[in-house]
Amino acid sequence: MDTPYKQTTVGILGAGQLARMMALSGYPLGLNFLFYDPEPTACAGQVGDLMTADYDNQIALDEFCRKVDVVTLDFENVPVDTLRFVQKRKPVFPDPDVLEIAQDRLLEKNFISEIGIPVAEYFSVDSHSELMFAAKRCDYDAFLKTRRLGYDGKGQYRIKQQADVNQLDEADFKQPMVIERAVDFEREVSVIIVRNTNGESATWPLCENKHKNGILTTTIAPAKTLDNDEVAFDYAQRIADALNYVGVLVVEFFQTKDGFLVNEIAPRVHNSGHWTIEGAYTSQFENHLRAGLGLNFGPTGSPGVAAMINWIGAFPQDVNSITDKDLYWHIYGKAPREGRKIGHCTLLAESPQQLHSRILSLVKQLGVSL
Ligand code: AMP
Repeated sequence: MDTPYKQTTVGILGAGQLARMMALSGYPLGLNFLFYDPEPTACAGQVGDLMTADYDNQIALDEFCRKVDVVTLDFENVPVDTLRFVQKRKPVFPDPDVLEIAQDRLLEKNFISEIGIPVAEYFSVDSHSELMFAAKRCDYDAFLKTRRLGYDGKGQYRIKQQADVNQLDEADFKQPMVIERAVDFEREVSVIIVRNTNGESATWPLCENKHKNGILTTTIAPAKTLDNDEVAFDYAQRIADALNYVGVLVVEFFQTKDGFLVNEIAPRVHNSGHWTIEGAYTSQFENHLRAGLGLNFGPTGSPGVAAMINWIGAFPQDVNSITDKDLYWHIYGKAPREGRKIGHCTLLAESPQQLHSRILSLVKQLGVSL
């Protein structure tokens, strides 16, 4: 008689492209997925079953929990109450306590500085008079950010001179904010770390990231090696350990001539890790699942170099016609909209020089500028 085969079902709160890529990496491991999202057209629904309900719908959440074995997320702003409700029924990774910190820029910066890791000088501001004081302390060269729900440059206001502060008024303070000094960085990098319940961890090579209007446009990995890079890995390890983290955690840094400052942490798989799908021996998505399911990690090294280019708002016209050895397209199945990430491509090469010339040739063929 055949032994009954019980497939493990991973529930994912949020059904965007991260959930979609997680599922695509998990199917070869024999996993099944159930997505949960308030939006019926959420793009992970194209590759697996999607439950559509609000995050505070306890009847739907209860049904979701009965259908899955373990739960993770593709979106760090899933309400903490939802995560705690789910955690009473099924294991959740990362832990809701981590999300509570990461959802609030002030709590996140307090936590990181309390464990002795540097961040840009920052102040909590809840009123125009507090802003006047703090902006002056930042020499009127700063970023004003909402504490909650800011991502991809949303909820950010750049202050370059005193007049930028003067033109705000009390009505602009409907929600708590932080102001942080503008950092004169040499480059932006991120460390992707995966950690399991036993405290074992692994990191991928350092990623160098370029942003436009606060949105990630390209990642190159491994980043060109600089003398003190291991400091960034040490900081990421300390953050992951202090949070007793399970799954993939991404720490974004400003690298300055005086060292590294943490910009923010992402308690989930991250856009700067998409290159790992083809560019590393094991992707961030697969190892995130492995961490949560108590499986050994796959190796995180990379045989060559990779570039990830994001398509934001629209695709270059010829997206489907360009094929090449070592070029991989990822189209997320999302309706194009200004500022929205709708796909990416990854280019691989054996050396940074070869990668550079491949990027130039691709950009020329596509008729785009990066
Ligand atoms: P965030 O959403 O906070 O990660 O910000 C998005 C991007 O805006 C960052 O990756 C930087 O390129 C830029 N940015 C944000 N805060 C600062 C800062 N304090 N100094 C310099 N650039 C910043």
